[in-house]
Amino acid sequence: MFKSWQALTLWKRVLVGLALGLGVGLAVRYGTPDLTLNANETLPGFERAAIIGESWFKPFGDAFVRLIKMLIIPLIVTTLISGVTAMGDPKKLGSLGARTIGLYMLTTLFAVSLGLAMGTLIKPGVGVNYSTASAADVASVTGKMETAEQAGSFVDRLLEIIPSNPVAALSDGQVLPTIFFSIMIGIGILFVGKPADPIRHFFDSAAEVVMRITMMVMEMAPYGVCALMAWVMATKGIEVLSNLLWLAIALYAACIIQIIFVYGFMIIRLFLGLPLKQFFRGIADAQGVAFSTASSSATLPVTISCAETNLGVDKSVAGSVLPLGATINMDGTAIYLGLVALFAAQANGLDLSMSQYVMVAMTATLVSIGAAGIPSAGLLLAATVLNVIGISPEQSLLVIAFIFPFDRLLDMMRTLTNVSGDIAVACTVAKWEGELNEDVFRNEAEV
Ligand code: ASP
Repeated sequence: MFKSWQALTLWKRVLVGLALGLGVGLAVRYGTPDLTLNANETLPGFERAAIIGESWFKPFGDAFVRLIKMLIIPLIVTTLISGVTAMGDPKKLGSLGARTIGLYMLTTLFAVSLGLAMGTLIKPGVGVNYSTASAADVASVTGKMETAEQAGSFVDRLLEIIPSNPVAALSDGQVLPTIFFSIMIGIGILFVGKPADPIRHFFDSAAEVVMRITMMVMEMAPYGVCALMAWVMATKGIEVLSNLLWLAIALYAACIIQIIFVYGFMIIRLFLGLPLKQFFRGIADAQGVAFSTASSSATLPVTISCAETNLGVDKSVAGSVLPLGATINMDGTAIYLGLVALFAAQANGLDLSMSQYVMVAMTATLVSIGAAGIPSAGLLLAATVLNVIGISPEQSLLVIAFIFPFDRLLDMMRTLTNVSGDIAVACTVAKWEGELNEDVFRNEAEV
């Protein structure tokens, strides 16, 4: 039995873990009876389920997430340095960077238009009374929104990409400064040439070691994903479906279209002429982990390993395009921000003009770029988008507090979309740069 379980390809095991966690979590959530403590006190079943979720399932999920997070910085540093030195010519970095950013913007543009179209079609906000958001939710969301809105102007934030203290940047896990510093080291090694061979070999073999550790951690993914799903379902359930049914339907539909049609058919099939089945099999592990963690940053090592090992993306591309994507390319989040804006407008009975649609699309794109790849970051920054359609900060707070308790189930889908988009772009850039091993891509997981 155990042998045949291990013989299954990882992505299948991840899917089984996901389904099992879902089932167990829902059974606990809806099957735990109320507990009578004494004559006038009972502990409701939902609260008991939440306690079970927090104490039995969450620790296992957390252990898995910590294991992956442990690898983020080592993986970026080693893969990127080894990738840049393997590339041979620092000039190639310029075209790689420009192509990556161009593609990221293009896919986000599709995403945001799709979100707006779906919101106009499905009208998720009509008849919703969001002022019923509880005072406790408003209070908790207020603090979180302040933390999410990173201080500093756009220029300040651009400047922060250059780490004045690289060691601090590494130890704080800051992705963009780490990318910058690693690329500089790579370029330095290239320019020095022969005398830098020892350090080049060092990073080459370090990259292999860290990748091997990543694969080992990935073996834990089915169990980690199962625990995370069981925790989310036991503590939160699927209440989103009764309270925000149409918002959930609109988001899931738009994300599925974005993944299957935009990434799958348009990019992988038509544009790159590559087989869809292999692409979707190759990214399934990353999708499973993204869905259960709701964090594209925490999924990053898995994303890199899927792109390299399953799809044949060279490490120079995987190591640069994917960490950048986990930070700035969030198509699911862009879809969502457009939808939340329409949701609020419809709940308020506002009719938006064409120019307001364009403004929403532009701000949703910018906010999705600025959002961190952590749970609920997108929702907590939605006030900026609501502002452009004339929703006051007080009203925005209510909208956000109303959605927040049910956000996890929505966040899981947009994170899955964010990560899928990163990998689709990585494959495209790799193919353009001649850094895609198509044999690996086409032969991926024949099982
Ligand atoms: N959780 C998402 C991510 O990590 C961001 C969001 O809240 O939309 O990609």
